[in-house]
Amino acid sequence: MDRRTLLSRASAAAAGLILGPRPAAADARAPESLDRAPTPGMVVEPAREVPVVAEADVVVIGGGPAGVAAAVAAARTGASALLVERYNHLGGLWTGGLVLPLLATHAVGPDRRRRRVLAGIGGEMAERLVALKMSIEEVNPVVDPEAAKYVLDAMVQEAGVQMLYHCWAAGLVSHDGVIDAVLLESKSGRVAVRGKVVVDCTGDGDVFHWAGEAYDTMQYHIGLVHRVGNVHRIDRSRPGFQERQIGEPTPIPGVNWVNMHGESDQDGLDLFTLSRLQQKYRREIWEHVEKVRATPGCEEVFLLDTASQLGVRMSRILEGQYRLTLKDSMTYRTFDDAIGVSGAWTSVLWGGRKVPEEERPLWQIPYRSLVPKRTKNLLAAGRCFSFERALVEDARVIGACLITGHAAGVAAAVAVGNGTSVQEADVGRIRALLAQQKAYLG
Ligand SMILES: Cc1cc2nc3c(=O)[nH]c(=O)nc-3n(C[C@H](O)[C@H](O)[C@H](O)COP(=O)(O)OP(=O)(O)OC[C@H]3O[C@@H](n4cnc5c(N)ncnc54)[C@H](O)[C@@H]3O)c2cc1C
Repeated sequence: MDRRTLLSRASAAAAGLILGPRPAAADARAPESLDRAPTPGMVVEPAREVPVVAEADVVVIGGGPAGVAAAVAAARTGASALLVERYNHLGGLWTGGLVLPLLATHAVGPDRRRRRVLAGIGGEMAERLVALKMSIEEVNPVVDPEAAKYVLDAMVQEAGVQMLYHCWAAGLVSHDGVIDAVLLESKSGRVAVRGKVVVDCTGDGDVFHWAGEAYDTMQYHIGLVHRVGNVHRIDRSRPGFQERQIGEPTPIPGVNWVNMHGESDQDGLDLFTLSRLQQKYRREIWEHVEKVRATPGCEEVFLLDTASQLGVRMSRILEGQYRLTLKDSMTYRTFDDAIGVSGAWTSVLWGGRKVPEEERPLWQIPYRSLVPKRTKNLLAAGRCFSFERALVEDARVIGACLITGHAAGVAAAVAVGNGTSVQEADVGRIRALLAQQKAYLG
């Protein structure tokens, strides 16, 4: 155990939180039977029968940008689709995390012209938000979170997706590399749902972790976003006025969203880290807004809300059949199994120079980077699909998550329709259906 872990456990234990050694999350998978005394500090969970409360061709776990796109896409092919979300809203970090700019909508094509690449179901979400006048900016639009929750919920209902809110996927049952059921915790108790194919859109790769797939675990910045109101009532002419960090505009006049970089190298899979950061950031935000309000001319600014979802940027990254690279993204690499094209939103160091956002190439995403190595009926989409760390800043943003989600939903439905494993799914059919659903394939 390193010093940092030891210290954090010691302080948590001092606060009365830990009764014994805490297992790493990876160790917490219960063995199917235990014919020995439990390890000290562990308890044995008795085996029990769990009711199967829903079945569908495609079960999507996690209702963030990727999960909503996946569920809607699968349902639009004619498959039955079930979407499971632990909270009370769709959109994940985009809405509940108050991360309002939909990044990576544009990039430069091989013809050197910068163009919009966001299309398909993600593009439709963006257009519906524009139609509601709840989106500002053409490139990387900033949306209103409540409007986005409303639009995503409407799209899910219109597509005929069966929606289960308020339940947390907590494990799975599998046999011979095939997931039989996903276990959910809910106010109805522990229940199970069955899907012919499961799509992991938890952001954290919870499902591929339980399925025993290989993955990289990336510790990164964790933040907490908040919004402030009345910024249009700031009087900059007041004596003593000073500029303060009050964030960026949103579609609601007078309301800004305020991003937070947060502490770096944080473990987004550690319950105690998440709890510590939640308390720390809430206090910091409150104190910051108090400081703003104490500034002459800013008295009417107020804290509108803090995000209901803590801002975990990265955790698990699938080691899939292909790990997409930064080089692929900077060299117009093409793939026979391309299922979408993403844009780019930030500058990167490449070829010995800093390439600005405006010059960044569009990049293709191959189907194989959504496909795990072993499990025959599982796909991953969103910020946990298979890419190398150097690509993280582009692969994790909402634009890319919408694309991988859309593709995973269609691919899952194709595998179900043809009765194949996801590894053997008909890529030609997947691409044809994606094109029908107006995805941009390059
Ligand atoms: C502070 C911060 C700022 C960012 N800024 C931007 C930005 O400006 N623009 C941008 O494009 N991107 C930004 N990002 C990145 C982007 O928001 C996310 O990477 C993106 O939302 C990921 O989408 P996703 O669908 O993969 O996962 P998520 O958005 O994380 O959604 C996952 C969903 O799954 C649910 N879930 C998770 N586990 C379970 C489970 N076990 N059972 C049931 N449900 C579960 C969650 O509740 C959530 O709704 C930012 C991220 C952070 C943290």
